[in-house]
Amino acid sequence: MIEGIDKRIIIVGGGPTGLYCAYLLKKLNPNIIITVIEEHKTCGSPMCCSGLIDVSGYNRLKLKNFLVLKDFLINKIYGSHIYGPLEAKIDVLSKDVKAYVIDREKFDNSIKELALSFDVELLSGKRVVSIENNFVTFKDLETDSEEQLRYDYLVGADGPNSLVRKTFFPEIKNSEFVHTYQVTVEGNFDNRNVSVYLGDFAKGLFAWIVPESSSVAKIGLGVSLGKNPKDAFLKFKEKYKLTYQREIYECSGILPISKPLKNLVHDNVLLVGDAACFVKSTTGGGVNFGLLSSEMASKAINERIKEYKSLKNYNTLLKKYRKELNTHYKIRNYLLSKNFVEQDKLLLKIKDSNIHKILEEYGNMDYPSEFLSKIFTNKNSFLLIPEFFKFIIK
Ligand SMILES: Cc1cc2nc3c(=O)[nH]c(=O)nc-3n(C[C@H](O)[C@H](O)[C@H](O)COP(=O)(O)OP(=O)(O)OC[C@H]3O[C@@H](n4cnc5c(N)ncnc54)[C@H](O)[C@@H]3O)c2cc1C
Repeated sequence: MIEGIDKRIIIVGGGPTGLYCAYLLKKLNPNIIITVIEEHKTCGSPMCCSGLIDVSGYNRLKLKNFLVLKDFLINKIYGSHIYGPLEAKIDVLSKDVKAYVIDREKFDNSIKELALSFDVELLSGKRVVSIENNFVTFKDLETDSEEQLRYDYLVGADGPNSLVRKTFFPEIKNSEFVHTYQVTVEGNFDNRNVSVYLGDFAKGLFAWIVPESSSVAKIGLGVSLGKNPKDAFLKFKEKYKLTYQREIYECSGILPISKPLKNLVHDNVLLVGDAACFVKSTTGGGVNFGLLSSEMASKAINERIKEYKSLKNYNTLLKKYRKELNTHYKIRNYLLSKNFVEQDKLLLKIKDSNIHKILEEYGNMDYPSEFLSKIFTNKNSFLLIPEFFKFIIK
């Protein structure tokens, strides 16, 4: 018997994590049939993302070997300006490139091309409307006609509002999800650094400016689900007297922030990326970690088909990354537990104890455990000792 010859894997969602998972599965086992079902006609559009990805996180992905960075790289980021809710401000400015700003439409399409070159079947313009008894029902959004397809394994890569998650993991709640609003604008910007603003306009997250160049940037913010992010954005704009010449694009989207989930497998179904809430709770950034989850999911499914291993191994493969996401979750809860005066004081303490210098050298947006240990053991950190204890018990 040829392993997997009659197996069909359906992936719901043709975003980066779904397409990457499809590519890897087909590469690992050319005998299986992989079908990606995507509701939009074109992958990567419409898009709502700032496109900021941590360099060290991206370099840990196998994906970097299959893509050409310059095909989708827009800008390189060296550091950040962080504005406290009241008056504090710190600058974390590194000599090294810390993050890339990528063109998500081009990035997603580069992954799509990889998947198509390995004979992945992509059904676009079709929305999955229900899943039952190993069949998905999907609707052609042009003709309204419905079709069904049977699967042996199903991957939910259908983003923050995942139908696959709601169907098979109803226990996962969206109470910590964040609603965002973002505009791409023309103006004058510091093209080397991002800016982050804490304050009552963005309770639950923060506001940001991510420069694509010195004349174009993405400006946005996030608020708790149920609040209006566009109203919040206008307050933010007013407070900082933000001016720009022209809005090029506006969008709104959800960040699936949650305590990292221990189980992402239900029988023959698993979740990846935003559908799995596999995102950093500190920022809602989910590209690098989502792609990691696709690498682990494809390995687990392949080993299930070829070696009859348990699909639950996916949970085990994710353990070390879940730990890192747990640290993000702790940092978020620690910051949210502080009032504005305390948040400002914390930033000033970081500045006074020169901790921002450690961040300049060792900081990265994806793996906080790597620089937190450097901060905890630094001789200048004594000012922060009470804060360390508060953080640990969070
Ligand atoms: C304003 C904003 C800014 C962000 N900025 C950053 C950032 O700077 N860096 C970062 O790392 N992350 C950022 N993110 C998060 C990032 O966009 C996501 O983590 C990433 O897109 C997740 O990829 P995914 O493939 O899991 O899901 P998605 O990209 O959401 O893809 C899911 C796909 O599934 C399709 N789909 C959904 N339901 C169905 C259905 N029923 N049938 C068929 N198809 C379906 C959708 O059309 C979509 O194409 C941002 C998000 C927002 C909202």
